[in-house]
Amino acid sequence: MTGRPATADQGLVRKLNTALLMDYLRTHGPLSRASLSTATGLNPSTVSSLVRHLLAEGLVREIGRQSTEGSGRPGILLELNPEGGCAVGVEIGVDTISVVLTDFVAQVLWRRRVASDPQEGQDAILGRAEDIVRQALTVGKRRGLRFLGIGLGLPGLVDQRHGRLVFAPNLGWSDVPLQQLWGARFNLAVFVENEANAAALGEYYFGIARNVHNLIYLSAGIGLGGGIIINGRLFRGSGGYAGEIGHMTMDPHGDLCGCGKRGCWETVVGPRAIIRRVRRMLEVSGSADGSQIRALVDGDLGRINTAIVVSAALAGDTVARQALTEVGVQLGIGIANLVNTFNPEMMVLGGVLSMASPFLLPVIEETIRQYALAQPCETVRVVASAHGADACVMGAVALVLDDILREPARSGLDG
Ligand SMILES: [Zn+2]
Repeated sequence: MTGRPATADQGLVRKLNTALLMDYLRTHGPLSRASLSTATGLNPSTVSSLVRHLLAEGLVREIGRQSTEGSGRPGILLELNPEGGCAVGVEIGVDTISVVLTDFVAQVLWRRRVASDPQEGQDAILGRAEDIVRQALTVGKRRGLRFLGIGLGLPGLVDQRHGRLVFAPNLGWSDVPLQQLWGARFNLAVFVENEANAAALGEYYFGIARNVHNLIYLSAGIGLGGGIIINGRLFRGSGGYAGEIGHMTMDPHGDLCGCGKRGCWETVVGPRAIIRRVRRMLEVSGSADGSQIRALVDGDLGRINTAIVVSAALAGDTVARQALTEVGVQLGIGIANLVNTFNPEMMVLGGVLSMASPFLLPVIEETIRQYALAQPCETVRVVASAHGADACVMGAVALVLDDILREPARSGLDG
């Protein structure tokens, strides 16, 4: 650039405008420079200058001319360049490690998922995850791609600003400075986030909630987590711990929760609650006539899991259907509270809940209509996650892209 050096403010404006253009290309591309100018309100010369920079960086590419009727030269269309870089998404779950390598538009280039067990211990699990990340990096290097960073989703409280896992009750880990550890190990930018927050962002970026700017993602794995997106941004709260909606108190005298309190929503509608309901029904003689579940677990009720309950329900099992219906009502009551509080456009059910969605959705919708206020209820859509078991790991990729697309200042893309 020629002329006066940009002031700090000018530099910031340029970065924000660059982010605005890239986000527009992501959501509405391919677009011409003229359409970008009209859509963003930036003047044509600013758009041209920023696009020149993005082309030089390889983040945007030209893909031929727009076919338009009318007068004037048709504009060259621009889109995000898939080969602009690659991101590594990692999920360390309670019983699984999952890693994907994607290009700049989140197409999966390589993936690996392995089972894990909290009993292995923190060092062993982290060591295995690191080995798989190294394999992903090798694949990216072979393809000659530039690495944009590593996103990591974890099942617990995360101090996102410092990239530190504060507490993961179901893993038994506390105070792990993962951003620092992996940043030093891999020499890449590392973004750490709670799994449900990451999954919410993944659905917003490239799942069922694309272009839905106000949504709540509800995730059931071992526990029940939530991710809240307001005006297209993850709502993290003052300390980064927002979204722990599984621990809303539903019954002060209810069952003990993993968090140490009583009657949390998670104890009423989480996967453990589904299993507990089924067991109770099977144990009460007479109420389980015709149920196949006992046979499916060879009479050992301790082996019942949510996958068994869902597949039994799909096959018409009355006990499984009854349990899921009861859970659906309790889910609907909690969701009605969230609908009244946040007025979201969309509620996304993830994890085990998305598997059971054929039964849960109608019950939830009916319950919301009963308990939520009419106006916010009218517009909210309740849907199953698009990513299913990949929700968290794709969300981890979204963390990396979110940083590039929204905060180019931190990504070395200085204008
Ligand atoms: Zn709790």
